[in-house]
Amino acid sequence: MKICPLCEYGTIIEAIIKVTKERIYLCEECEALWKDSIIDLDKVLNFEDFMLQRNLKPLWKELEIVGEIE
Ligand SMILES: [Zn+2]
Repeated sequence: MKICPLCEYGTIIEAIIKVTKERIYLCEECEALWKDSIIDLDKVLNFEDFMLQRNLKPLWKELEIVGEIE
């Protein structure tokens, strides 16, 4: 289990955006997002922005959840 370095509370979940097939890593609490499994504060993105940039709604139902990462 990997804890989010941003909120220091949530668990990082690996998921795939159903429409674009992009693999993302997302904090289940604060929705901080990473594009690869190197969970580094320097590379943090925002789930809402990431989805809106793809004309998608920032909703978890747009995601296929793979599971927690190590
Ligand atoms: Zn977080």
